[in-house]
Amino acid sequence: MTACAQQTAAPGKSIAQLRADFPILAQRVHNHPLVYLDNAATTQKPQVVIDAIADYYTYDNANVHRGIHTLSERATAAYEGAREKVRAFLNAASTAEIIYTRGTTEAINLVAQSWGRNQLQAGDEILITALEHHANIVPWQLLCQQTGAVLKVAPVLEDGTLDPAAFAELLGPRTRLAALVHVSNALGTINPIADMVAQAKAAGALVLVDGAQAVAHEPVDVSALGCDFYAFSGHKIYAPTGIGILYGREALLDEMPPWQGGGDMIRTVSFEHTEYADLPWKFEAGTPHIAGAIGLGAALDYFRALDQAALAAHEQSLLAALTGGLTGIPGLRIIGTAPNKVAVVSFVIEGAHQADIGKLLDSLGIAVRVGHHCAMPALKRFGVTGTVRASCALYNTVEEIERFAGAVTRVREMLL
Ligand code: PMP
Repeated sequence: MTACAQQTAAPGKSIAQLRADFPILAQRVHNHPLVYLDNAATTQKPQVVIDAIADYYTYDNANVHRGIHTLSERATAAYEGAREKVRAFLNAASTAEIIYTRGTTEAINLVAQSWGRNQLQAGDEILITALEHHANIVPWQLLCQQTGAVLKVAPVLEDGTLDPAAFAELLGPRTRLAALVHVSNALGTINPIADMVAQAKAAGALVLVDGAQAVAHEPVDVSALGCDFYAFSGHKIYAPTGIGILYGREALLDEMPPWQGGGDMIRTVSFEHTEYADLPWKFEAGTPHIAGAIGLGAALDYFRALDQAALAAHEQSLLAALTGGLTGIPGLRIIGTAPNKVAVVSFVIEGAHQADIGKLLDSLGIAVRVGHHCAMPALKRFGVTGTVRASCALYNTVEEIERFAGAVTRVREMLL
């Protein structure tokens, strides 16, 4: 039995068997078996998700909410059924709190423009961290330009963990919102998000959590967490691109004005007055990504049926293999060595450009991401403008990581 077949992540299912659920993984790239280590950018889709999307278009395709015919009723039931699956996944109190968006980016922009633009005044503060993805920086910068609010940034320590003292110090009476990344996409750091939320709430701020990198790796319970908003993207958790979620506390969403206007978000419209639809539809103007929502529901069904404790143990073995395999390669520096990390490793090699490393790894069938990972300020903190990043998902194996580490050694020798 191979090491790969021995790793298990689902009751009665080995990692090798789980891999078979993802048809894309079976291919060869440049005549090598594909090793896909770009999962922080996007994850691959299991056949059940692909089938759910294909079935929807094959049998049920119709617009939602508006039709009285059978196909529209089926499409609506599937679309709204997926919302309930998301509610259960996040442990939100009600489906009224689950808003479909295009992804994390759109969810954060929705909060910035609907809540922030109406609530913030000059001198109010928004606190983020130095680990944020651009999606949790730029919307707040735009909001600051619009309102005169001020963006504050909590620094990170040398190992890529948040500086807890500085974070506590930056939270003050002027902090109206803390917008915090749960797991860093660039470094893999898992933030102590429950503590951070509790501290920010105690300081009187609202809290938005960017959960894009967390949902497939960390348990998320928005009720226990007590955050006001939680955003994530379907495509980071084995669902399609173009669909994401904004969770918001119902009382807060109720008070917020719509962000976009159009069909589906209204109850009545006249030229004099428009009455908006109830939650969550008030925030879902226009024909939504119906197939995407259905695919997200299927992905969450798939993911939640897996043994989460086994997945977490598997992830830690991948992280150990990654860190162990790369440590000791001459001139290689791992950026982000926090004690609490997901299986993401960012690194640079002295004298070798990341783009060349990435291209040569691709020629060996290994997919990694190189560049700034949409987190330029986080990398700047470590004195680099880009890294090579290997990021794992549930279907990666220790054997693949060993192949990857061997390939990095070879590529380094080719380049230097
Ligand atoms: N935040 C984090 C931490 C991310 O990793 C990403 C995606 N790389 C985003 C936000 C943005 O997600 P999306 O592009 O799916 O909207």
